Amino acid sequence: MAVTQQAYQLVIDGRQVSSASGQTAVLTNPATGEAAAVVSVAGEEDVDRAVHSARSAFEEGVWPRMPASERGRALMRIAGLLRDRAESLARLEVLSSGKPIKDARAEVLAAAECFEYYAGAATKWFGETIPVTDRGLDFTLREPIGVVGLIVPWNFPLMIASWKVAPALAVGNTAVLKPASATPLTALALGAIALEADLPAGVVNVIAGPGATAGMALVRHPHVGKIAFTGETKTGIEIMKAAADTMTRVSLELGGKSPNVIFADADLSRAIPAAVSAVFSNAGQDCCARSRVYIERSIYDRAVAALVGETERLRTGDPLEEDTQIGSLISFSHRDRVRGYIQVGIQEGASVLCGGAPPKDPALARGAYLLPAVLGSVQNAMRVVQEEIFGPVACAIPFSDEAEVLRMVNDSPYGLSASIWTRDISRALRMAQAIKSGVVSINSNHSVHQEAPFGGVKMSGFGRELGMHALELYTDVKNVFISGA
Ligand code: NDP
Repeated sequence: MAVTQQAYQLVIDGRQVSSASGQTAVLTNPATGEAAAVVSVAGEEDVDRAVHSARSAFEEGVWPRMPASERGRALMRIAGLLRDRAESLARLEVLSSGKPIKDARAEVLAAAECFEYYAGAATKWFGETIPVTDRGLDFTLREPIGVVGLIVPWNFPLMIASWKVAPALAVGNTAVLKPASATPLTALALGAIALEADLPAGVVNVIAGPGATAGMALVRHPHVGKIAFTGETKTGIEIMKAAADTMTRVSLELGGKSPNVIFADADLSRAIPAAVSAVFSNAGQDCCARSRVYIERSIYDRAVAALVGETERLRTGDPLEEDTQIGSLISFSHRDRVRGYIQVGIQEGASVLCGGAPPKDPALARGAYLLPAVLGSVQNAMRVVQEEIFGPVACAIPFSDEAEVLRMVNDSPYGLSASIWTRDISRALRMAQAIKSGVVSINSNHSVHQEAPFGGVKMSGFGRELGMHALELYTDVKNVFISGA
């Protein structure tokens, strides 16, 4: 298909503009293999323009100085526009991500909810008074940092962008958002919506461009006060090292290899469908994907048969069809990588209990589809259990008792999310405390709640997004003492 429409433009200094070099890129729709859109590609010059615009909006503009309630109302206007445009934004997201339209709609609504939450939070973030020994009054101010650089991945493009933009703006920062090269469309749309919502020029800039150049230029820019990053662990390490040169603080939401522990006393009628959704939603391209499914030995065969049956019933298909549950993966090269991992598993001795190959339906042959796979005969030390696959692959692993499963669960470089299924509340609480991860859910597959902190430990990064905790990432604490002597 020839792409004839105009390039999607960057958002810099209150305007939608082409990149300084005029460079563009053609995005591929991974569900069809066809060209989907043309996008302006930012280079270092564009990053510099965006940061300067954000800096003057912060240093000289009204945004950080306006009453917090007024900033909150501006965020509410963004939320309203996101809701009004939910269908077109969801379709835009599907175009470059291949995710099911129902999921894309839910993510746009989650982005709107995020702006609504931080619209209200803007007036509820304040300092404290401290009874110091010296005579006088001591109090703290919560101050915005300045220009913040926000770098996001391709798996939940608009939603993760909103997790960063909304809290950063609520407390008075100005932002430069860099979306993933594969999925920049909804981030660019968000930038345009911010202009329509009457945010002052420079408060939200969006620069789509390659991570290694545009992303790194943002990280290294001397006028960026903080980088909030979501993406792969190895990219996070690079960013942290580069940010050290300018003492730029970072928060890092990185990879995961999360466990789902199913005890014999669990309600399997809930635990199995939830386990399937916890690993295969978004085709497993989810940092929280609970891809290590630990099942107590006494129910292992029965639970694995149910897991495989439920997985085989998932509908893999055209992302624009309403009943599709698994769309295409993000790209053909990513599908190759995921299939490579399945081969690694087989070489290590695992057996493929279902899926793991492209669907036979000829209508899907041109897309990067992969049927969700369950691997059995898996040992905890295998690479498929230790490494993040970021695709639709679950490993089913038996365990004998609580102590053994706890050892296996914590024997991982990552620590993002975990689920526990049991009717024994004492055991659930012991496990929740002993598991090394940032998030634990009991008898639930929900890792993320807008109102609660989210983030990882170990190689899954540090810093907590969402809830009021996110505001800590975007503010400095200043202590003020007034002598009473
Ligand atoms: P990447 O780390 O490859 O990319 C993430 C973002 O960083 C993209 O915008 C990318 O740009 C940019 N980038 C890449 N290299 C650099 C660099 N050297 N300097 C600055 N920016 C750079 O991750 P993916 O997009 O592949 O996303 C998948 C990963 O994200 C998985 O590991 C997943 O676990 C993790 N993730 C973590 C979450 C969490 O909350 N913990 C949530 C969601 C995902 P470009 O696209 O141009 O390369």
